[in-house]
Amino acid sequence: MSMYDCIIIGGGPAGLGASLTLGRARRKIALFDDGTNRNRVTHESHGFITRDGIKPHEFKGIGLSELKNYPNVSYFNKTIIEVRREKEEGNFIVKTRDNNEYVSEKLLLATGIQEVFPIESIRKFYGKSLFSCPYCDGWELRDKPLLILAEKEEHILHMVKLIYNWSNDLLVLTNGNDLSQEGMRELAKHNIEIKNDRIEELVGEEGYLKEVRLASGEIINRTLGFVAPTYYRPNYFAEKLGCEIDEKGRVMTDPRCRTTQKNVYVAGESRKPIPSSLMIAAADGNKAAVSINTDLTEERF
Ligand SMILES: Cc1cc2nc3c(=O)[nH]c(=O)nc-3n(C[C@H](O)[C@H](O)[C@H](O)COP(=O)(O)OP(=O)(O)OC[C@H]3O[C@@H](n4cnc5c(N)ncnc54)[C@H](O)[C@@H]3O)c2cc1C
Repeated sequence: MSMYDCIIIGGGPAGLGASLTLGRARRKIALFDDGTNRNRVTHESHGFITRDGIKPHEFKGIGLSELKNYPNVSYFNKTIIEVRREKEEGNFIVKTRDNNEYVSEKLLLATGIQEVFPIESIRKFYGKSLFSCPYCDGWELRDKPLLILAEKEEHILHMVKLIYNWSNDLLVLTNGNDLSQEGMRELAKHNIEIKNDRIEELVGEEGYLKEVRLASGEIINRTLGFVAPTYYRPNYFAEKLGCEIDEKGRVMTDPRCRTTQKNVYVAGESRKPIPSSLMIAAADGNKAAVSINTDLTEERF
């Protein structure tokens, strides 16, 4: 079995950024990615300076092609299904779905997060008609009639206030949940309509929403909008390795991406299960890589 300085699980901007920095620092790296990045559902990514409007698969393709300049970085398009230590504080063994094992001294978790939607059928329209991040997609939806699909009052008010800046033609659908009197007054002040009926069905084709059918029988003819998902880390690697996790599900780290377990680092959205951006994730990967290289330097010099 080949021995790596660091195995990186996840080739989103966090893992790609870390691989580039560690590759350039002459470390022997194995990067694993299985193409389940959550932005794969969308046509275009915005707001990453020099790459505004790039397609997600193109972004990943450019990242991977840059890594080819560094023969000490190996890329594997494989899913990791298990992570363990050889012995306490020992090397890491990661196992792929096709039953191969790889060993490293350090491990970087950059596996991102995934969404849970209040109504599962939202997923069909996510990234084409329904979005979660106005910084990413608000510009393209500016001044259009928009839906806000959210269930909790705090999410509704947060989204309405934020998205009002891009369009003030908003219709809130709460899927059977009520707002407080105060919440209703806030919306009324800005002429924002709210419908509390349960959502029966979202109807459309090939990811494009045509209408929303409410349990009351009413049909809403809006085709674009924002949703408020909740998020989770799609694996228990950090937990299994004994990393401390706080009550909000965040992997506890020092400011430089080091977890509470020696030689385990975490970067990008998987650090705290809340959404950020390509740029913030890439910067986090860079930060983790510098920590990993600093630790290797100190330990080996
Ligand atoms: C619809 C949508 C639109 C968006 N638009 C924008 C935008 O316009 N601009 C912007 O800045 N941000 C946008 N984002 C947010 C952006 O995608 C994330 O902030 C960013 O991708 C997070 O980077 P990351 O590296 O932490 O995680 P990801 O990019 O999610 O990467 C994690 C990687 O880990 C891999 N992985 C996970 N588990 C395993 C495993 N067990 N084995 C192997 N590989 C694994 C996955 O394949 C994935 O590629 C959007 C998100 C969505 C959902």
